[in-house]
Amino acid sequence: MTHFFHQPCAGCGRIPIQENNSWELCNNCWESLPFTNGNYCHRCGNIAVTPKEICWRCTEKEIPVDTLHSTFFFELPLSEIVYTFKKTGRRDLSHLFAGFINTEMQGIGGVYPVIPVPCLPDNKKKRGFDPVLLIARVLEKKFGSKIMPCIGRKRGLSQKKLDYVGRQKALQNKLYIYSSIQSQLGSHPTVIILDDVCTTGATVNTCASLLKEYGVRTCIVICIAKTTNY
Ligand SMILES: [Zn+2]
Ligand SMILES: [Zn+2]
Repeated sequence: MTHFFHQPCAGCGRIPIQENNSWELCNNCWESLPFTNGNYCHRCGNIAVTPKEICWRCTEKEIPVDTLHSTFFFELPLSEIVYTFKKTGRRDLSHLFAGFINTEMQGIGGVYPVIPVPCLPDNKKKRGFDPVLLIARVLEKKFGSKIMPCIGRKRGLSQKKLDYVGRQKALQNKLYIYSSIQSQLGSHPTVIILDDVCTTGATVNTCASLLKEYGVRTCIVICIAKTTNY
């Protein structure tokens, strides 16, 4: 793989000091990465629960996602690295993210097909790539993961300013399973849904309930980061 020696640090914009295990980040950003260390609800990703437990909201209602794994909280400098990746087109950062996702996958202890959450078509057009699909492709190439991009997404408004219910409404009929893959899903009892940043969980839950309609029984979500304000 090509290293980008003159790329600035993806977290703070300064030139990276190459004395650590990252070519993308300076030492300072590397050391201040907001790792979750498993301290979140393993159904929805909310914080304020004791490790490896389920929050009160998830004990009260059934949600389609079975377990959720997030390597980071969506805080600095990680939020800035995601921004650099998605908005400024630093595609090389997909390798950094794929490494973290692969570690998370190894922690699950099973090999399951990986289904990337598609981005909004307008964003893909603007950026020239689909960030989560790009990470999935690196997982496939570098770590031999089985990638199964089977969810399509129709045009819709950005969900950024909406809450869970608003997002769920906005997503209705916007996500769908490719008809060519629908009949194959029953042979995959467990799948991994891959996302970059999980906010309210509306998108991954919509994906999980769609997949379950076609015979998937367990949906494990792996994301890079979970926001802490939901
Ligand atoms: Zn930095
Ligand atoms: Zn929860």
